[in-house]
Amino acid sequence: LTEKLQNVFKNLRSKGRLTEDDVKAALKEVKMALLEADVNFKVVKSFVKEVQERAIGQDVMNGLNPGQMVIKIVNEELIRLMGSETTEIKLQPGSAITVIMMAGLQGAGKTTTTAKLAGKFKLKGKKPLLVACDVYRPAAIKQLEINGEKQGVEVFSMGDKIKPADIAKAAMEHAAKNKNNIVILDTAGRLHIDEEMMAELQEIKEAVTVHQTILVVDAMTGQDAVNVASNFNDKIGIDGVIVTKLDGDTRGGAALSIKAVTGKPILYVGMGEKLSDLEQFYPDRMASRILGMGDVLTLIEKAGAEIDEEQAKKTMEKMKKAQFDYEDYLDSMSQMKKMGGLSSIMGMLPGMPGMGNKKMPELDSEENEKKMARMEAMIQSMTVEERRNPDLLNPSRKHRIAKGAGVDIAEVNRMVKQFNETRKMMKKLPGLMGGMGGKKGKF
Ligand code: GDP
Ligand code: MG
Repeated sequence: LTEKLQNVFKNLRSKGRLTEDDVKAALKEVKMALLEADVNFKVVKSFVKEVQERAIGQDVMNGLNPGQMVIKIVNEELIRLMGSETTEIKLQPGSAITVIMMAGLQGAGKTTTTAKLAGKFKLKGKKPLLVACDVYRPAAIKQLEINGEKQGVEVFSMGDKIKPADIAKAAMEHAAKNKNNIVILDTAGRLHIDEEMMAELQEIKEAVTVHQTILVVDAMTGQDAVNVASNFNDKIGIDGVIVTKLDGDTRGGAALSIKAVTGKPILYVGMGEKLSDLEQFYPDRMASRILGMGDVLTLIEKAGAEIDEEQAKKTMEKMKKAQFDYEDYLDSMSQMKKMGGLSSIMGMLPGMPGMGNKKMPELDSEENEKKMARMEAMIQSMTVEERRNPDLLNPSRKHRIAKGAGVDIAEVNRMVKQFNETRKMMKKLPGLMGGMGGKKGKF
């Protein structure tokens, strides 16, 4: 998949401007990529159409080539489709009990996810009660009890002779007495969608007030997941979805299809069998995953980071004029950290061959990240005068700074040396200003 998309870039790289034909050609490949990621074909079709309408005639942003621009739009539309923000499970106000019913096919991960959710709620200071409503699989009740115990939350069960709806009712009485504020009903699934399962869920809903019906789907079922989701949504109505088993190598196209078809938000994703492996759903991360090109997207993001661009320009300008002082040094360091290190910025600038990782590895290293904090302390221990006029620093001033920052004098000397080198190097950089936010990217 990634290879395919890289080919799209290769094909577009040599061209200066994007014509309607170019957009169509690029999107044809994107279409294939999405299908390979297991996105439902109907969703792919309408998605591609929408992106095409948006892409043709749009200005290519500074710092991006036309091919990247198309991918940027693709990425944005994916994020928009999946809901631009994360969604929380809606709880009842005050001390009222929120009833959550888990639904889904057998093996989707309902029981595991029930226990995972209980852990999350517990961390938020809630008192959840887990209810064993799966009376068909002999081990189901035991499984919930074991997981509940691991999470330190109570499990309510009545064996396998009582109807799930009646168990749910009894559980509500127990919860009221026991002062639980969240009740999670773990229900039974079937291997396939069938009337009996739906009827049973409906019965539970009639017996108790269910505030949130959460559908659990297995990401690895790919295309099937969308049928499952729309079926459940039509028959019993769902409020949100949890996609499990995203720790596998599936691209997770199911997440996109489900949201597009049901319109219901994805709340969490299951990232493993351990009870802590439940993560908030982030549409932007999911979009990257579905497109399968993290590096490219990171680069596009950086090129589009306009907020910091102005400040970066100012710093660069000062650097060039060698008015560069310790305050700028501190600024530029944190600026570079934000943008992924100096060498990565250099790599993005045209006309800077060979200025990549080789020349300044120390600016990117992790060790340097740690040094940042100490450096900050040293610069803060300087007087304003010293910061503005770096040449003032003499041995006695350096001693005072070292003492103030709680570091060795050798470390102060090292920083001064590094600062002077940076200042010298910055003076030599040719055409850097023209490069920031430049015309052509790396691709
Ligand atoms: P249920 O039939 O819907 O209740 O499904 P279970 O909760 O019993 O889960 C079925 C299997 O999937 C179990 O072996 C779980 O450990 C596993 N499982 C559930 N969620 C995840 C997940 O996010 N990642 C992985 N790798 N396995 C999971
Ligand atoms: Mg189960």
